Amino acid sequence: MTIDSYANRFVCDLVAYEPGKPIDETARELGLDPSSIVKVASNENPLGPSPKAKAAMKLALDDAHIYPDGGGFRLRSAIAESVGLDRSNVVIGNGSNEIIELLCHTFLNGRTGLIAAEHAFVVYKLMATLFGANYIEVPDPGFVHDLDGMADAIDESTRLVFIANPNNPTGTMVDQAAIDRFMDRLPDHVIAVFDEAYIEFPENPPDTLRYVREGRNVCVLRTFSKLHGLAALRVGYGLAPAHIAELLQKARQPFNVNAIAQAGALAAINDREHMDRTIQVNREGMAFYEKELAARGLEFVPSFANFLLVKTGSGDRVFKEMLAQGVIVRAMSSYKLPDWIRISIGTPAQNQRCMEVLDSVLAASTTA
Ligand SMILES: *Cc1c(COP(=O)(O)O)cnc(C)c1O
Repeated sequence: MTIDSYANRFVCDLVAYEPGKPIDETARELGLDPSSIVKVASNENPLGPSPKAKAAMKLALDDAHIYPDGGGFRLRSAIAESVGLDRSNVVIGNGSNEIIELLCHTFLNGRTGLIAAEHAFVVYKLMATLFGANYIEVPDPGFVHDLDGMADAIDESTRLVFIANPNNPTGTMVDQAAIDRFMDRLPDHVIAVFDEAYIEFPENPPDTLRYVREGRNVCVLRTFSKLHGLAALRVGYGLAPAHIAELLQKARQPFNVNAIAQAGALAAINDREHMDRTIQVNREGMAFYEKELAARGLEFVPSFANFLLVKTGSGDRVFKEMLAQGVIVRAMSSYKLPDWIRISIGTPAQNQRCMEVLDSVLAASTTA
């Protein structure tokens, strides 16, 4: 018997997360310059990092020999201030993905379960598998979370309900009335997790922080990876009533967010100009795609986020053929959407190029 057979069964069962194809790898394979590759595969900020964050991180390098502030005092204070909560309500993580893991560490085991929508962010399912928990998927007609159906699916063993809002990869959003109805039905043994990685993009997003303030069983997840353009740094956070936040704090590694990342995030949170510009570029890019896709009769899901789900047919093939021309989008077969691709909104030049390459790939497939 090899050592493999002694490995934790849940780890063996895991299907590794498949990230967007890296630019360097693509450039190497195609023999192209990395700067000529358009990556619109991971909902990153096409304007790059907040310039204020970049400056702060350069300064922070001088102290790279010192362990970070494990308690994240300054960053947690700044986050709390930005959302009108107390520092005791804030848990920072190595990406908001780590907060998802901390929630699972804290509340899941083999006798418990979690609930998510059928086309929800895939990390919830990976984590359920890792912790041996029962994963319940609730159908989402029209790609919109059915919160009533999700509340119906709750039973005695349920501990977490994940609501990605706006959701990735669908871009859809549930409204305040649906959330309020859901919260009215939430039993005491369940935590509602609102994953709000894209919450800054829609114009009138629902308010879930009121439930944190009221001390309800909620955790709101946010990230510096999207709006602030700091995906490489890995900083995200959870907002929860203090007693829940305290449990999550116990479950984390002592220095889970590095000092460079903390310095960058702290500067980014006050960089209103970069945030506004990002939102503006996203609005214009979204309008461009909506118009161009409609003109071609291509179906897409109206999106509240910084990406679009587009029905091209044969998503894997479209992905590969676009990749061969240096444009990286995301195939959606791992989300059980084999006919769809997901395109992140880029700069005007990237959007134009992506649309041209999509055109050429679709034209070739109709003549073939
Ligand atoms: C991108 C994304 C995140 C952010 O993950 P980080 O670990 O903070 O980079 C979280 N949830 C969803 C639904 C996302 O799409």
